[in-house]
Amino acid sequence: MASPDPDVLLIGGGIMSAHLGAMLKRLDPRLTIEVHEAAAELAGESSDGWNNAGTGHAGLCELNYTPPPAVAGTPVDVTKAVEIFARFEQSRQFWSYAVAHGLAPRPADFIRAVPHLSFVRGEASVAFLRARHAALAAHPFFRTMAFTADREVLRGWTPLLIEGRAAEPVAATRVAAGTDVNFGELSRQLLAWLAVQEGCRVFTGHRVTRLRRAADGWELVVRHAGSGESRPVRARFVFVGAGGGTIPLLQAAGLPVARGLAAFPIAGQWLVCDNPAVVARHFGKVYGPPPPDSGALGGPHLDVRHLHGRRVLLFGPFATWTTKFLHRTGRATDLPASIRPDNVGTLLRTGLHNRVLARFLVQQALQSMESRLRALREFYPEAVAADWRLVDAGIRVQALKQADAGRLSFGTEVVTAPDGTLAALLGASPGASVSANIALQIIQTCFPDRLRTTGGHERMKAMLPTFDFALSQPSADHARHSALIDDRLGLLSSGGA
Ligand SMILES: Cc1cc2nc3c(=O)[nH]c(=O)nc-3n(C[C@H](O)[C@H](O)[C@H](O)COP(=O)(O)OP(=O)(O)OC[C@H]3O[C@@H](n4cnc5c(N)ncnc54)[C@H](O)[C@@H]3O)c2cc1C
Repeated sequence: MASPDPDVLLIGGGIMSAHLGAMLKRLDPRLTIEVHEAAAELAGESSDGWNNAGTGHAGLCELNYTPPPAVAGTPVDVTKAVEIFARFEQSRQFWSYAVAHGLAPRPADFIRAVPHLSFVRGEASVAFLRARHAALAAHPFFRTMAFTADREVLRGWTPLLIEGRAAEPVAATRVAAGTDVNFGELSRQLLAWLAVQEGCRVFTGHRVTRLRRAADGWELVVRHAGSGESRPVRARFVFVGAGGGTIPLLQAAGLPVARGLAAFPIAGQWLVCDNPAVVARHFGKVYGPPPPDSGALGGPHLDVRHLHGRRVLLFGPFATWTTKFLHRTGRATDLPASIRPDNVGTLLRTGLHNRVLARFLVQQALQSMESRLRALREFYPEAVAADWRLVDAGIRVQALKQADAGRLSFGTEVVTAPDGTLAALLGASPGASVSANIALQIIQTCFPDRLRTTGGHERMKAMLPTFDFALSQPSADHARHSALIDDRLGLLSSGGA
């Protein structure tokens, strides 16, 4: 007998579906939920530990969230950094709830305390970092941020930055309470929990090949990778959490938002070092300024990572060309197949408006190993080529919207069907770090009735205590709550690097 259609169907087994599925099930235990993942394993695409930087983006170190002021001497605008901090704090709230309630029982496998640093060189950049520090440290979220322009202090923070460095002005900020997150492991823990809940199932090797409206929700066609057989599934609510596979599915669904929507993939690469003698001497995630031509793609960074029980260093990301939308199950024909009469104009307009970025991407893709090492030596002057190898990171599929008239927006954006029966996620940054807030946004838009009941409100409050607060407003007992979360996530004992 065929199994009954689920209330909720989540396409893709990455960090976004994992959060939405787990949060919805805790909010309303009667919901039946299915996850359909195309690949043989869960969270093997952008959410996998090797395919992203694992930075718990909280605005502590990323210089692209606090651009230098247009008028010299005016205060640095920290609005974006404050917003990212508050959204990341909601992820930490949900993860600590997930640990306490057995949804993600092994925090040491997915989160570690790793200090977050911003690092700059040259007089003008040092002056900017000082001003940025003054603006941020005035906010309660960032009050523990330290600043130094003293090379000896910096050597104590993380020696690789200073050893062998020429005499030039340098400065850094440091927040000890940064994190390194294995989003792939976290996704797999949450989905393993979801898979054994009543009325819930998680499938791998099941690709959604068609998505169209039905009388009461959506009808999908799902193809089983092993047998090649396809079967229809209906659901009242669908979340397209397919990462690079999202835009083709939205195009097929015929939503107004998909009209003129185009996609452009940018693949990432890292330099990786596992020489224990080097790895043992770097203590943090160190972010530099974004290169002037790189749009808002973000700056290079030298990171401590904790992946599958190993401590490694990662430097990058470097951008490179691809026409695939997915790292593992994508095809070279993904980009050409996504071009249609209604989105050619969007692609061309974006290309014309972003010639500087296009040139930057071409330069990145043509880089030699030697030029990548030169970029690394701006952070770590004594880096030795033999210690580093180049590996592929994930693919970021940039959504290009007709309405943006050629402008690029690099943030993450939830789009929904007007009747709230479908939601999808576009964009990559700050991405996985704000997955709890993204799940919340979807619930607020598509399941508002579930939050209005007394029980529903209480259950959401238990998962995300700040879900009904203004994001930029720290709660009165923010510091105490934050310490409790650190404790539950094991961050107080994970060593600070
Ligand atoms: C180089 C790089 C560095 C990054 N660094 C960070 C960072 O430091 N911190 C951070 O927070 N974020 C970072 N990100 C962003 C982050 O990785 C993503 O925002 C996040 O992983 C997206 O999760 P997801 O669940 O939407 O997508 P994914 O993890 O890609 O999951 C989507 C899943 O859907 C499946 N799928 C696709 N099509 C179909 C289909 N038709 N049917 C069924 N299944 C399908 C795929 O196989 C995949 O498993 C980075 C991204 C890149 C590219």
